[in-house]
Amino acid sequence: MKKRLFTPGPTPVPEDVLLEMARPIIHHRTAEFMKIAGEAEEGLKYLFQTKNPVFILASSGTGAMEAAVSNVLSPGEKALVIKGGKFGERFEEICSSYGIAVVPLDVEWGKAVKPELVEKILTQEKNIKAVFTTLCETSTGVLTDIKSIGRIIQKFSDTLLVVDAVSSLGAISCKTDEWNLDMVITGSQKALMLPPGLSFLSVSEKAWGKIENSKLPKYYLDLKKYRKSLEKSDFPFTPPVSLILALKKSLDSIKEEGIENIIKRHKILAEATRAAVKALGLELLAEKPADSLTAVKVPAGIDGVELTKRLKEQYGVNFAGGQDKLKGKIFRIAHLGYFDKLDIVLAIGALEMALSELGYKFELGAGIKAAEGVLLKKD
Ligand SMILES: *Cc1c(COP(=O)(O)O)cnc(C)c1O
Repeated sequence: MKKRLFTPGPTPVPEDVLLEMARPIIHHRTAEFMKIAGEAEEGLKYLFQTKNPVFILASSGTGAMEAAVSNVLSPGEKALVIKGGKFGERFEEICSSYGIAVVPLDVEWGKAVKPELVEKILTQEKNIKAVFTTLCETSTGVLTDIKSIGRIIQKFSDTLLVVDAVSSLGAISCKTDEWNLDMVITGSQKALMLPPGLSFLSVSEKAWGKIENSKLPKYYLDLKKYRKSLEKSDFPFTPPVSLILALKKSLDSIKEEGIENIIKRHKILAEATRAAVKALGLELLAEKPADSLTAVKVPAGIDGVELTKRLKEQYGVNFAGGQDKLKGKIFRIAHLGYFDKLDIVLAIGALEMALSELGYKFELGAGIKAAEGVLLKKD
């Protein structure tokens, strides 16, 4: 059976990127490797739309989230965490384990935060040193209005804005410098079309001010060490050489397609997916859906766990289910990274067949028809 990955991380990796990782290992402190690392750094700046440095860490996305917390804050300081799902909660857990006082902004899962609320809290609560938020909350598929939050943060000279863009960069719009984002985080296994294992973190001038004075403990993820090395396109510790060769290849193809075209492609795929599930009589979970993935409510009378299991076992199609309190209640179709129009037709076809087998009543083919309608119209 062919296996098809439609999970919001890891995502499929293009064949030419996979082949890069089959190349012989070169030493990391050589001109040859440093040239590749330097070019990857430039590619990352293009992707992040920033003039500031973007650090490459050997960790999953959570490592960069932890680096953001431990490098800018000091014991006992206060942070605002916007929590509308699993990844917002993760920021709170990281902050709490470092002894940071968390002011939580709870958002109902599936809903988007109102940016005015962030301004209200920052004005009321004194001394909030950082706001931690998620551009696309992968557990719910919700898009956060980061641009507006960035505008608000500009009024607070002692507060940083840290954005988890792990399932966003390379799929949806994220303008690091233009939107005033102090730290933007992503990981390799999402829209960057790479295997898991790398995370990335951009750092603004304003954030450096805090890093200089931060007193939380850190060693492996100490960004000052990375900054010193980066001047020579070097790393403080042995980098995963093969993954960085693959990164360079993937960033080349991102540059070639162009960010605006990439965003357009994701928009079309997302619109087609949303139109298809609606045509099947299904409902979206997200009030404001991001174009990276589509979270769909499991219809009444259908077992959500059974649905994703059947898709995987009968059709080799791997959708993600819901996490935590959404387990069995939603399924998530990813379309971020190495995805094209026919991937959507395939995903919807598999969904229709599995739903039909489970006894869900709908007009067979209605989803595919709706998806193709969108895909044909837009180019
Ligand atoms: C995938 C993801 C992460 C990182 O998860 P890791 O398993 O540590 O790579 C963080 N935030 C969001 C929004 C994600 O989608």
